[in-house]
Amino acid sequence: MKKILLLIIIIALIGGSAFLALSRDWQAPTLNLIEVTHVNKNVIATVSDNRGLGEICYYLDGKVDGQTCVNADGAASYELVVDLSSVDDGEHEVCVVATDTNSYFANSVSQCQSYLLDKVPPKAVLESATRYMQRGGGAAVFVSTPERETNIRLTVGEYQFRFISNAEGTRHFATFAHPHDVEMADFKPMVVIEDLAGNTRRLLIETVTKDRKFKNDILNIPHSFIERKSLEMLNKEGSDKETFLEMNETMRVANRAKIKSVLDASPSSEPLWEGACYRNAGAPKAQYAEHRTYLLDKVEIDQQTHYGVDIAGLAKMPIRAANNGVVIFAEYLGIYGNCVLIDHGGRVFTMYAHLSQMDVSPGTHVTKQQPIGRSGNTGMAGGDHLHYAIYLSAVPVKPSEWFDRAWLKTRIDYIYNDFKAGE
Ligand SMILES: [Zn+2]
Repeated sequence: MKKILLLIIIIALIGGSAFLALSRDWQAPTLNLIEVTHVNKNVIATVSDNRGLGEICYYLDGKVDGQTCVNADGAASYELVVDLSSVDDGEHEVCVVATDTNSYFANSVSQCQSYLLDKVPPKAVLESATRYMQRGGGAAVFVSTPERETNIRLTVGEYQFRFISNAEGTRHFATFAHPHDVEMADFKPMVVIEDLAGNTRRLLIETVTKDRKFKNDILNIPHSFIERKSLEMLNKEGSDKETFLEMNETMRVANRAKIKSVLDASPSSEPLWEGACYRNAGAPKAQYAEHRTYLLDKVEIDQQTHYGVDIAGLAKMPIRAANNGVVIFAEYLGIYGNCVLIDHGGRVFTMYAHLSQMDVSPGTHVTKQQPIGRSGNTGMAGGDHLHYAIYLSAVPVKPSEWFDRAWLKTRIDYIYNDFKAGE
């Protein structure tokens, strides 16, 4: 009888422990302090526990007695904000301790991390900038910072322009534009400098901008053109509206995205150009920012904006580099056909499209007027011509300004010389 009782007690003990072991939450909450080196107002800790969180506390610089606590009330996850707004700038250690809701054996976890607290926005001086510019045209700016700043950019609404900086990171030069589609009232070129802690400084560049009207053009598209181009560009037969739109819209969007990614990825050194850009010979055809309406059988089927200038000379004429630079792209690219892109430094790029022949490849250093290929009608081109475009960062601008020696000298080179003067 006694043995049976003992057995029952043993079974009850084992069963009870097993029940406790299974029902108990053995897992401590997970805790992650934000992984950055610099902060400017608070540190965020994300805490979670699948069975619910209890008390979460934090303290600074090892002062456990001065800890601040909140109760997460059994929440599965909690975002703790450690407010540092009243703490002096400098290095601080933040420690967080989180417990779960287990009533008897609460599990806890702790984590400490050091941060450099910096609440002071970067200082910056707008040293010089182009004053007179026009819609669709370019400009330059030189900004100095007493401390090393690596995150400096220029914005015009949605458009972004990048700077080149000296080795110390204290002098910064950028070319920028009044993009053709930005209305006069919306043109506010802004230099934005952000430090490692996230503090930002903004400088508004004051320019006097002249408005410009851009040409409208109507293009009648023959079915034979679509038929010929769809074989070349899409590798299929077709002469209808849908085939045209597949090239003129879908492909155009993809090609422009590709160009932007190539330009964005290019390292771009300090300016390599010397004097005005060389203009390839030939008659001017389509202009920069010309608005095109496309008709098929007298019915409107599409509208697009032309980002470059078209120059028509002799068929298969030699095409020369506009200025010194480095070839960063030489490939067949949809509507642009055989297309060469050159980086001239200072985030200034030129494009040569519809070529019949390309004589350069990425990495080739070219000098002004060096032949890079021959004109043609590859891509979305009816006849043999050169499509020439110039980009500042990844924004197309009016090419003719860069053919003008006086303009380039006073609007861009003077600013660059200021940037270089203090070196
Ligand atoms: Zn063109």
